Amino acid sequence: MKLLVCIKQVPGGGKAEIDPETGVIKRDASDAKMNPYDLYAIEAALRLKEQYGGTVRVLTMGPPQAENVIREAFSMGADEGALLTDRRFAGSDVLATGMALAQAVKALGHFDLLLCGRQTTDGDTAQVGPELAEHLGIPSAAGILEIQSVGGGHVTVKMDMPTTVETVRITLPALLCVEKDVCVPRLPSYVKKKATAQREIRVLTLDDFAERDEALFGLFGSPTNVRRIFPPESTDGREIWQGDADELAERLHTALVNGRFVERT
Ligand SMILES: Cc1cc2nc3c(=O)[nH]c(=O)nc-3n(C[C@H](O)[C@H](O)[C@H](O)COP(=O)(O)OP(=O)(O)OC[C@H]3O[C@@H](n4cnc5c(N)ncnc54)[C@H](O)[C@@H]3O)c2cc1C
Repeated sequence: MKLLVCIKQVPGGGKAEIDPETGVIKRDASDAKMNPYDLYAIEAALRLKEQYGGTVRVLTMGPPQAENVIREAFSMGADEGALLTDRRFAGSDVLATGMALAQAVKALGHFDLLLCGRQTTDGDTAQVGPELAEHLGIPSAAGILEIQSVGGGHVTVKMDMPTTVETVRITLPALLCVEKDVCVPRLPSYVKKKATAQREIRVLTLDDFAERDEALFGLFGSPTNVRRIFPPESTDGREIWQGDADELAERLHTALVNGRFVERT
């Protein structure tokens, strides 16, 4: 079975650096890491490979240093990696990201199952997976809690719906966005890290795509217009309250209501 996992490098710390001119997140900051939700997608793919055989390939779109997350996936057990990197993809919104990833997936050739994380910790939209499936014209499902079985050209999964958990059978090739309940990711192996340090990573650019119209990618292909983007202000302001439990509870409730965190009851 050919498994493909989309992974993204995200800002590592609490602070994302933002270009004040363009409002674009600076993605070349040295403090970057694998999107935590994508670890679950990699682990799910590795377990399917262990159960059914096959290969796990990871794909990321980002600046050249996004190679680091591919190397991390290698040290978990992924077999192949592809890095989609080109200045013409800079400033992509969700639509342009989905478009570029879809073209890259097509350029990489046949796959049976494509896995994505639930969302990222920077863009945080949880839209890339479903959009990617739309661009590829394949079925998709999100909120995957469990991958039960693969066989007969189908994958059977448990899917988290708002009030129920549904078991669904989906025709392959398909795309799944997995929740973090799907499995516990393994730790990267130092031995695998050393063994794969020189493993070649396939690099893709716009020139590798079947669709090369630059108007569809990067800032040109992004209909969303970010007016202002800024990190939340942090404040060290704190108050110490004293009183009995009832007074303190009332005061806390009033503060939460005033802050519009809860409604007055
Ligand atoms: C209104 C708006 C405007 C934006 N404008 C800009 C902008 O001008 N410049 C800018 O830099 N960013 C911008 N962003 C952020 C950018 O669109 C997102 O980082 C990008 O589209 C991916 O979306 P996401 O991070 O929300 O991914 P999600 O949809 O939350 O990710 C879900 C899953 O998709 C996969 N995935 C997501 N991104 C990638 C990737 N790059 N490579 C491989 N797999 C991936 C992963 O499996 C991930 O777990 C904008 C976002 C919004 C909502």
